[in-house]
Amino acid sequence: MVKEDWAMKTVTNEISKACSVIPGKMALPNQYFAGRVGSRFIISLRDSKKILGVKCPKCKTVYVPPMECCQKDMTKIDENWVELGDTGVLVNYTVVNYRDAHLPRKTPYILGMIQMDGAEATLVHLVEGVDPQNVKIGMRVKVVFAGKTTNTILDIDHFEPIEE
Ligand SMILES: [Zn+2]
Repeated sequence: MVKEDWAMKTVTNEISKACSVIPGKMALPNQYFAGRVGSRFIISLRDSKKILGVKCPKCKTVYVPPMECCQKDMTKIDENWVELGDTGVLVNYTVVNYRDAHLPRKTPYILGMIQMDGAEATLVHLVEGVDPQNVKIGMRVKVVFAGKTTNTILDIDHFEPIEE
């Protein structure tokens, strides 16, 4: 066993010395199908700047972003739309320090789990207007809509703290 570990370490070192990493780009055109429920959510953001959720008639759970079935009891809920306001609470977050060209912001930035007022499920989105070292779980936040639509979830540009 010890001998095998030693052999693996040697191979890894030899590989890292013998190989180089060559950065490159691959074009990968794709389309993401938001689905019927996701599309209605995005279209409402885009055309009305309104945040829609769906409410389970059985257990009363409200989901934002909306989904077809309740995760608690599997009731079909995709026709039971409710309109929510633009405020919520930050229930968790992470500070992203990993840099990559496809990421939506320059690092460091905050990615938060936001529970919209009136909803139980959480929405993952960008939190701005607060330094990463000052962000707090429980912070009240509000939606800032994008000035120009991208016809995506980024029609909500970000969330920012509510000054109270
Ligand atoms: Zn339910």
